[in-house]
Amino acid sequence: MDKQLRELRLQEERAFLQSMAREEDTKQHPSWWDSRAPAILPEPLASDAALCVPSSPKSHRDLGLITEAVARNEFLQHLGESCPDVLAQSFVAVQHSPGDTVLAEGTEGTTMYIVAEGQLSVSQRGRRLRTLGPGDVFGELAILYNCKRTATVQALSPVRLWAITRQRYRAIATSNAKQRRAEILGSLRTVHWLQDLSDSHLCKLLDAMEECTFKPGHIIIHEGDEGENFYIILKGEVRVTQRVDGQEKLLRVLGAGQHFGELSLLRNSPRTASCQAQGHVTCVTMAKDDFLEISPYCPSHPAEPNTPEAEAPAPEAEAPAPEDPERGRGSSSPWQTPAVPLRLEELVAVRYQEGQRQGQCVVLGTGGFGRVDLVQCREQLFALKRIRKDWVVRKQQQEHVRTEQRVLAGCHSPFVVRLFGTFRDRQYVYLLLEFCQGGELWTKLREMRCFEEPLAVFCCACVVEALEYLHSHGIVYRDLKPENLMLDQRGYVKLVDFGFAKELGRGEKTFSFCGTPEYLAPEILRQEGHDFAVDFWTLGVLAFELLVGRPPFHSADPQQIYSRILDGVFSFPAFLGEAACSLISKLCRRRPGQRLGNTASGIRGIKKHRWFGALKWRKLSLGQLEAPTLRLIKEGPPYVNFKRYSVDLTPVDDEFSGWDEDF
Ligand code: ATP
Ligand code: MG
Repeated sequence: MDKQLRELRLQEERAFLQSMAREEDTKQHPSWWDSRAPAILPEPLASDAALCVPSSPKSHRDLGLITEAVARNEFLQHLGESCPDVLAQSFVAVQHSPGDTVLAEGTEGTTMYIVAEGQLSVSQRGRRLRTLGPGDVFGELAILYNCKRTATVQALSPVRLWAITRQRYRAIATSNAKQRRAEILGSLRTVHWLQDLSDSHLCKLLDAMEECTFKPGHIIIHEGDEGENFYIILKGEVRVTQRVDGQEKLLRVLGAGQHFGELSLLRNSPRTASCQAQGHVTCVTMAKDDFLEISPYCPSHPAEPNTPEAEAPAPEAEAPAPEDPERGRGSSSPWQTPAVPLRLEELVAVRYQEGQRQGQCVVLGTGGFGRVDLVQCREQLFALKRIRKDWVVRKQQQEHVRTEQRVLAGCHSPFVVRLFGTFRDRQYVYLLLEFCQGGELWTKLREMRCFEEPLAVFCCACVVEALEYLHSHGIVYRDLKPENLMLDQRGYVKLVDFGFAKELGRGEKTFSFCGTPEYLAPEILRQEGHDFAVDFWTLGVLAFELLVGRPPFHSADPQQIYSRILDGVFSFPAFLGEAACSLISKLCRRRPGQRLGNTASGIRGIKKHRWFGALKWRKLSLGQLEAPTLRLIKEGPPYVNFKRYSVDLTPVDDEFSGWDEDF
């Protein structure tokens, strides 16, 4: 980069930081206080045909520029270890003339760019932020999901760019991740004392392994030291030597796919040889403590995690709980079966009885999808979620809405909102749901700012019960956050909104990118495949947010949030108790295989954690605990715990493609 450009950049950065600091000072509440960035909808992967767009021919210099640009970009570095050749080859050349807008603030982005030649300006709300030159990357966030561009980029001179679309990037990242996983699994299978392990156990080991790199000459293992780690070589060579009669004797040279240091995991004996990197070496490694958590050799593991036998709730958990006569009306407790209407026409809209909106229909929640109405049938209240079919088709969410219906229909847990029926007409599909009268946990949290520990413990315990039920039925939830947790009339927490739920087999991974920015698990961001472990990560984030009033990985800039999540570094405010910090740190471990809930003890590991020490799990599952959240619920008309919304009267298009036949 030339000196002039560097100087210009420094000036621009200084001006930008000063203006940001001024803005921060004048803010009373941060922007996320009232509303959070919306959830990211999963996008179907492109068909193979769509990915066969010919890439542009590239010289060695071009490939070098692309690889280096990716390696230098902090965000991309966080996403993956390096730029594989196939990724570098997939960029397409794009040219622009001076004055051209390459990307415009507020528009949806599908492409990431690397500058090959020329200069471009970056501006936000008309304010010039910086200048880009050769080797710079922009539009990175678009390779993760369909987000709005936060700045405008314009060509200042004739420019040549390298571009890659999200669909293409995702396809490459996903296939790389699968290939890499298969290779490491292959290596694990060659370790003779792991040969008796099932594939799902080997996958768990793999999920707990961390990647590490060593410089040439680095001594990875010292002969005589106490062993703490086991390694599999991904790239490079490792020399294994032993001291014989005061002389260093070469025993062998290990290459990619081979492993070393395994004895340390099994015995407490010192290392019998030294291992030194010959050139640059990349390995995956597992620490002894993590191994002992996962390994079936450890006698403290009576059963595998997440098996139906190990995790299914005790049969008594389904037993009826005593009714509260004081709070009878309007509840549709999971323990009662209300008279369920069979036709949409039988449902009558409930109306506001007072205030500005008196006489209007009660709307409990809204979103791009449509809205949730409060309705009544023979004295019984229900929440009716109506989902716009034209929106579903436009956003390609048919499969997810069908999954929401299927999953909810199959769930019978007091900690999951109950589905009573589904309907459809020309414009909407409808889910008739149990009405959770106590309102959203999000609203309560905003009112209280943060929860005292007993409140947070109770809420999280209800969530643990829900996750235990879902996981034992092969369902991963993927959208845990206070907005999707509702209180019933007894103050018990229930999971609502199964839009991102997914049925998943054991040992299986799924690759869709979805969730809420602050709650995304690192493996989702890295697109390396994810599973049930994401729900434990989000449980950690939730516990933090309930106790502190904001999530642990937080920024107004989504890219910053993701960098922080991938770094895995966050700090606890001083007022948080030791037990809470311990649980959150164990849930928010970067490697999914190391997370509490996903280790050998399964969800029981979470339930036994001392943060839940005072909680009576059995009583909770029977609905016999008095909920501390009860005091958060206001008395009054059934909608008193909800914000008031007006009905959107814009006409909705008919939709007849037939994807909704099962509703
Ligand atoms: P959004 O785009 O707003 O996240 P969504 O697809 O997530 O929409 P839901 O979370 O299912 O939709 O519902 C939106 C809101 O409607 C909830 O946050 C809640 O306030 C209200 N709501 C949903 N289900 C119920 C229910 N069973 N009882 C009471 N209120 C409900
Ligand atoms: Mg929701």
